[in-house]
Amino acid sequence: MDKFITKSNFKKGIRCEKLFWLNINKYSFDDQMQSEIFDTDNAHSKMGTDIGMIAQNLFPGGIEIPFNISREKKIQMTQEFLKNDQSVIFEATFEFDRVLVRVDVLVKNTDGSFDVYEIKSSKINSFDERKDDYLLDCGIQHLVLKENNIKVKNFFLTCLSDHTLEKDMSIKEICNDIDLLQKFFTHTNLTEEIVLSQDDIKKRLESFQKIKEDENEPSTEIGTYCKIKDQKCECYSYCWKKQRSIPDQSIFDLYKNQGFDKALDLFNKGTKEINQLCDEDIAKLTPTKRKYAELYINNEVKVDYERLKDFLSRITFPLCAFDFETINYAIPKYKGMKTYQRYPFQFSLDILSGPHSVPAHYEFLADYEEDGRSRLIDQLIENIPANALILTWNKSFEQGVLKELAFFSPNKKEELMRIHDSIIDLSDPFRPYSQKIKDSGIIQQPKLLGQYSIKKVLPVMDPSMHDAYKVEEGVNNGTEAMQGYLELLVEKNPEKRSKIKQKLLHYCGLDTEALFSILRKMQSFI
Ligand code: SF4
Repeated sequence: MDKFITKSNFKKGIRCEKLFWLNINKYSFDDQMQSEIFDTDNAHSKMGTDIGMIAQNLFPGGIEIPFNISREKKIQMTQEFLKNDQSVIFEATFEFDRVLVRVDVLVKNTDGSFDVYEIKSSKINSFDERKDDYLLDCGIQHLVLKENNIKVKNFFLTCLSDHTLEKDMSIKEICNDIDLLQKFFTHTNLTEEIVLSQDDIKKRLESFQKIKEDENEPSTEIGTYCKIKDQKCECYSYCWKKQRSIPDQSIFDLYKNQGFDKALDLFNKGTKEINQLCDEDIAKLTPTKRKYAELYINNEVKVDYERLKDFLSRITFPLCAFDFETINYAIPKYKGMKTYQRYPFQFSLDILSGPHSVPAHYEFLADYEEDGRSRLIDQLIENIPANALILTWNKSFEQGVLKELAFFSPNKKEELMRIHDSIIDLSDPFRPYSQKIKDSGIIQQPKLLGQYSIKKVLPVMDPSMHDAYKVEEGVNNGTEAMQGYLELLVEKNPEKRSKIKQKLLHYCGLDTEALFSILRKMQSFI
C-alpha cells in the first residue's frame, strides 16, 4: 500500500505520533475504527471546502484540479497547467519524497514566481491562537513546492474577516460581486516565518517517515492531547476504551482540568475508577476534587435545601420553558448580519399556566430560504405571555440571541428585552459553587463531577429520560440540528422535508421538555 504524508496527517502527527500512524495505516483496522476516522475526516474537510470554494471566486480565471481523480492524474494535470502558463490553479497537487500536498490557490506572477494562498474557514480574530498550526500547514506546502522547483514569492494565509452585509444576498450573489466578497477575507503574508520554519519541518518529516514505515503501532501513552477543549481525538474510543478499557466515568474525569499526570500515574498503578481511590490518595486531592470524589464514592446527592427553597420560591406562573436553535453562517445571507453571526432558525416553547396544568407547546421553524427573523420575533412575542417567567438552560445564550434580535428589529426591542429580562437560568443550581453566580452549587450530583450541561444533568435527575437525546437517525445535538436545517433548505421532496422537520422539531422540543422535567425533580427534593 502506498503511504503518503499529507498536510492533514502531518498535523495529526504533530498532535500525536500514534494518531499519525493510525491514519496512515487505517485500512488495517476494524470497521468501527475505520468509520471513526473517515467520519471525522469527512466532517472536517467539508467545512473547509465550502469556504475554499467560495474563496476561489476571489481569483477569476482559475482552473481546479478535480478531487475525484487519482493522485498521479492530479499531479500530471498540475504539471500540464503549469507548462501551459495557466495563471491560477486551484488544488494544484505536488509530491516529493512521498509527501503529498494540494495547494488551495497557486497564482503565477509575471516574473515567473508564484503566490500561494492557503484558505482557512476560521476568522482572523483567532489567527494568533492558531498561528503555530497554520505555520505547519503552510510550511509543509512550501517545502514540497520548493523541491518541485516552484519559486514561491509570497505565501498568504487567507482567513475570514468581520464584515456586515448591507442587504439580503444569496451566497451566489455575493460570489459574483468580487469587491464585496473581498471584504469577507483577509490575506496575511506569512512568507518570512514560513521560510524560517523549514528546518523544523524537515526534521519532523524525517521522523514521520520513519514512523510511517514502522510496521508496529507506536506505544504512545494517552495524554491531554487526546481531548482538547472537549474535542475528543478521532481514535479516542480505540485508545481509551478498546485498548485500555477505561470506563465512561474514570479517574481522568476527576483530574480533567488539571493533574492529568497524576491521574495517569494512578491509572498505571491499577486505579481506573474514582471509587478505587484509597484514603491516602483522597487526602492529597485539592478541596474541590476531594469533595467530588467523596460525593462520587458515597453516591450521595448533596442539596442545600434552604437555597433550593429560595430558588423555587421565585418560580411563578405562567411559566415558560424556552430554547433557541441557531446556525452560524460563515458568510452571512441576511441584512445586518456579520461573519459567523448566529442566525436563530428555530425555537421551542412550553408554557405552564399553573402548577398542575398540562404544558401548552409552541414551536417555530424557518423552513425557507428568506430571512425568518421577523416572523420568529412576531411569533415569540405573540406566544410568550406578558407576565411570564421563562426558564432556559444557560441563559447567556438565549439572552444574547434576544439582544441581537432587538438590534435587528428596534421597533420590537421593548417586547424582546422584556422577554430577555424575564429569563432565569435553570442550570445555575447545578453549576459548581461560585460567589459570582447566586444560585450555583445548590444541587451536587455525585455522577456529574461538576459538569452541568443539560444532556448530562437530565438523565441523572430523571433516569426515565436517560436515552432521550439518543435518537437513532434523529437529531441528537446542536451540530446535527444545524446540518438538518441546511438539508431542509435544499430538500425539495415533500416527504423528505417533512421527515427532516419532524426530527428538528423533536430535538428542540426535547430541550424544553427536559427543562420542566428537571424542575419537577428539583421540586421533589423539598
Ligand atoms: S486517543 Fe490519544 S493516544 Fe490515541 S491516537 Fe488519539 S491522541 Fe493519540
